[in-house]
Amino acid sequence: MRCRLLALLLLLCLLCPPGAPAAAEAAPSPLFVQKVENLPEDFIFGMDASSVLAEEASGVIYRDAEGHPADVFRVLADAGITHIRVRVWNDPYDSKGHGYGGGNCDIDTAVEIGRRAAACGLGLIVDFHYSDFWADPGKQMVPKAWAGMTIEQKTEAVYEYTRSCLEQLKDAGVEVAMVQTGNETNQLLCGEKTWFNIQYLMQAGARATREVFPSALVALHFANPEREGAYATYARKMDYYQVDYDVFATSYYPYWHGTLDNLAAVLTEISETYGKKVMVMETSYAWTPEDSDFFGNTVGDGGAIVKDYPFTVQGQANCIRNITDTLVSRVPGAIGVVYWEGAWISVGTSSWEENHEKWETFGSGWASSYAAGYDPADAGKYYGGCAVDNQALFDPSGLPLDSLQVFRLLREGNAVPVAPDALEEVSLVCDLALPVVLPDTVNAVMNDNSRQPIPVVWNFTPEQEAAMRASGPAQYEILGQAGGMEAHAWVSMVYYNYLENNSFEEGDRAWTFTDLAHADELYVEDKKTDSLTGTKHAHFWSAARDSVEFTLEQRVEALPAGRYSFSVSIMGGDAGDQEIYAYVKEGDEIQASAPMSISAYGAWDTGLIPAFEHTEGAELTVGVYVRCQGAGSGAWGKIDDAKLNAVP
Ligand code: CA
Repeated sequence: MRCRLLALLLLLCLLCPPGAPAAAEAAPSPLFVQKVENLPEDFIFGMDASSVLAEEASGVIYRDAEGHPADVFRVLADAGITHIRVRVWNDPYDSKGHGYGGGNCDIDTAVEIGRRAAACGLGLIVDFHYSDFWADPGKQMVPKAWAGMTIEQKTEAVYEYTRSCLEQLKDAGVEVAMVQTGNETNQLLCGEKTWFNIQYLMQAGARATREVFPSALVALHFANPEREGAYATYARKMDYYQVDYDVFATSYYPYWHGTLDNLAAVLTEISETYGKKVMVMETSYAWTPEDSDFFGNTVGDGGAIVKDYPFTVQGQANCIRNITDTLVSRVPGAIGVVYWEGAWISVGTSSWEENHEKWETFGSGWASSYAAGYDPADAGKYYGGCAVDNQALFDPSGLPLDSLQVFRLLREGNAVPVAPDALEEVSLVCDLALPVVLPDTVNAVMNDNSRQPIPVVWNFTPEQEAAMRASGPAQYEILGQAGGMEAHAWVSMVYYNYLENNSFEEGDRAWTFTDLAHADELYVEDKKTDSLTGTKHAHFWSAARDSVEFTLEQRVEALPAGRYSFSVSIMGGDAGDQEIYAYVKEGDEIQASAPMSISAYGAWDTGLIPAFEHTEGAELTVGVYVRCQGAGSGAWGKIDDAKLNAVP
């Protein structure tokens, strides 16, 4: 027993030698990192590592850069991380003691994480959710034990709970640097929905923190900085109620949370107006679109997300670097950035079944089935694994990604040659009637996040092209090679229409009406039921006989030489004696025409000129001539859907 204890102590000492120099003799990093100027010595680089114990229990082995098993907290410290953040749920267990998942992060978990972090010289940020499970802008459920309490009782409960938790941390020798009195509290907290009540709970948490850790910072944490005016409102409410806090913290997930410019502006306003410290309390970015644990991720390929960096290790590092630089160079009072769950990786690579067993047993997925009783609407339906394994800073084998070193490297910068890191996809619209011409270059996203065109070689045969042109409108993916990477071109084969505003959806733009007989009405009308395509069309009507005669034309600029067809459609009524035709003019000379006629409402007639030659530089105009005597009195009609297509 004693031997085993000694061996354990020895192992701990080896893993975390006290006062060991950070990153001794680290191998040169391949990461491009632009130095962040004027970075304060005490700037916080935090890592939320709440799931680490559940991950380790599930068999995850974290490694150092050489691939040797290592204490994850030592690996993080060596990479320049200064603080560990841990969430605390009151009671993330069902009545039989089964964990809800998400790391089963109760105070015991937090104490153990805090102890291990402290052993590696890392400070602790404690993130009280004041809930038994996930609290976020959409849900802030009251803990089971506090259900039904009055606000006075709940306030006392928050105070007692916070004090008790912090004392347990203190007794364990953990130095708490910061305490969050709530997580993403956008006007919801612990089942309360009014600031009037919420502020009591925040005050209670702050009071307990000041008593147990007088030097710790008290942070409030909000989400959605992109919502106009939201943060100014929150800060004003906090000021109005004189809520005790030091740090106004925000989540900032670049896919959803607006631009860095907006982030800087919003945080600067709060810092300058209220004299508060500000920080990014959660952020992350994907290094790959791929999932690795058989449970879908919050971001991947596709979806309506903003993607300012490629999903590569370098893109992930550039994102972290630019958030840091924005805070340091543009936001007064900014004190740090915390990366969210950078060590939450797959618990296995074999199968969903095997991972599911671990998620259920050790709480290493975002939610287990046991959470259903507490959170039936969300966890109860969608429980499973990790949804952010592709945003971690470790690969699925527990090896740190090069991007983890960005925290250490951005103090001095890391100069490596500028080189392609990813390729932008190419999107082309090609005319079925014409040869498919793929570009000679594609845009590369360089490791410094600049864009440069680089040569590309497409895997594209004449047989492939012929098949694409023969099969009608469709989209194709063509692959190629550029800069040692696979290039993608998405080619849409279409019957390309060389007319502008061909369906009059933009009014009469690009079209000219010439009224030759004083029609009463001659304009573009917005009426879907009378349109052939879209919702608009060219409309004419006249009350008197012999007052409908006009042309409707479009001058076609810069059309390549070749063979083309032109068509346009008409319908109407009361036309009487009529002369109507579609035409193609070169200069003032009509080169070709096709007759059309008006019969009845809804009976569209198309005038088609099947082929004409166009020579480069010739003045080409296409149009329709309409003259109607009127059957009884005047005539009326609609013109729509003009097409100028190349002819093979
Ligand atoms: Ca996943």
